[in-house]
Amino acid sequence: MTSETTSAPDSRPIRVRIAPSPTGDPHVGTAYIGLLNYIFAKQRGGQFVLRIEDTDRTRFVASSEQMIFDALKWVGLTWDEGPDVGGPYGPYRQSERTGIYREHADILLANNTAYRCFCTAEELESARERQKAARQPPRYDGHCRRLTPEQVAANLAANKPHVVRLSVPLEGSTTFRDELRGDITFDHTNVDDQVLLKSDGYPTYHLANVVDDHLMRITDVIRAEEWISSTPKHVLLYNAFGWELPKFWHMPLLRNVDKSKISKRKNPVSLVYYRESGYLPEAMLNFLGLMGGGMAQPTEEEIVSKHLNTKEGDIFSLAEMLEKYDFKRISLGGPVFDLVKLKWLNGEYIRKLSPDAFFAALRHTILSDDYIQAIAPLIQARIDTLGQFGDMTGFFFSDNVLPPETVWLPKKRTFEDTVAFAAEQLATLEAAAWDAASIETTLKELGEAKQWSVKENFMLLRAILTGSTTSPPLMESLIVFGKSRSLDRLRRFLETQKKLANQRK
Ligand code: GLU
Repeated sequence: MTSETTSAPDSRPIRVRIAPSPTGDPHVGTAYIGLLNYIFAKQRGGQFVLRIEDTDRTRFVASSEQMIFDALKWVGLTWDEGPDVGGPYGPYRQSERTGIYREHADILLANNTAYRCFCTAEELESARERQKAARQPPRYDGHCRRLTPEQVAANLAANKPHVVRLSVPLEGSTTFRDELRGDITFDHTNVDDQVLLKSDGYPTYHLANVVDDHLMRITDVIRAEEWISSTPKHVLLYNAFGWELPKFWHMPLLRNVDKSKISKRKNPVSLVYYRESGYLPEAMLNFLGLMGGGMAQPTEEEIVSKHLNTKEGDIFSLAEMLEKYDFKRISLGGPVFDLVKLKWLNGEYIRKLSPDAFFAALRHTILSDDYIQAIAPLIQARIDTLGQFGDMTGFFFSDNVLPPETVWLPKKRTFEDTVAFAAEQLATLEAAAWDAASIETTLKELGEAKQWSVKENFMLLRAILTGSTTSPPLMESLIVFGKSRSLDRLRRFLETQKKLANQRK
């Protein structure tokens, strides 16, 4: 069986959405895709919806949803419908819609496009082992697809836990149109019988996403390219329900300068980092607008008549993006999330501010009352004149602190050991909840495991964070400085040491 699909006719009012999952810090990619959806909607008189996809309870982080709202608002994006503002197709938080997904799973069970699977974790594991041994790609082996209605009824009567799986046709292929790439075909042999409903009654991303996009009348799904391989499953689901397909636009992924997929190993990816480090939201939004390549570069004529240099063609406001952004221009080559460029752009925006606006920007961020008020108690007992305030707190206000080896290298340790331990500190802190007790405990555990004394352990971190061996209390300083900036400081320290070590070779 081969399913060819046609896209929605253009007559429906345009509705687009972003659907972030609250699994941690708000990602720059969410703002990038958010911006494109926003532009797409506003250019077409449509609606922009924010939906929270929080059905993966193992990755759920409670504070994350609010952080997503705040970060999107910070860059200047607003949405017409969402969990916080409501709207006609709510609720917009998937955890509040579980009944809807269960009803929809029942529809698929009834029309035989899905089936109940009673396989236990152990059974799945041993099937996987068999496949591995036979060098077959890991996928569900279809065992429960072949159960008779009587067997299913008996399992249900015995209250056996089960999931619901999509019944992917065994032969043929699914083709869908990507508005940026043209037709894309997936052979069904490469599409797994995806779990749609988990044994805890929660839907997986695929079911919830398709059901909601349909019920929320989404006409255009504009999302990152990493979802392309999920799209055949989604298309099969639309067909199974007998629903009209939205149009799919898969945007090129943001890349590091070395072209690898953007990751926090190489660049800060949290919008919180950029806000707290004093990037201006307009600069950030402009930078993200450059990523898809949808803004036309100025013509020769404009360059001459407006005395532009080529770089200035890269500077534009949200209003200009709404006017000129062209989805047909989007280039699929991976856009590079180049921090050097972002910094340059931010500098341009800083220089455009009036002195009053510049002062206000400082007072909103790096010199805000809240920040200074959090720092003050850390040094009150340590200074004799107020004039010494800056002596002990400089590291809170600088972007880069790189102490020389004499400051950070413990007497009895080698360069390599110490840098390796700092990398462990980074990994440990990445995983830590950001409160003094958690940070202290996990660092001490690390020290014990690696046989680093508490003193050496904390002193190294203190040196990296503050640039000095004397500082306000370490845990409190980390808290006030914030997780994303603290981690960034550690990362930059490690990068610098790596470069230095390479130079010495
Ligand atoms: N919840 C998915 C995410 O976290 C949404 C992907 C999509 O837009 O379909 O990105």
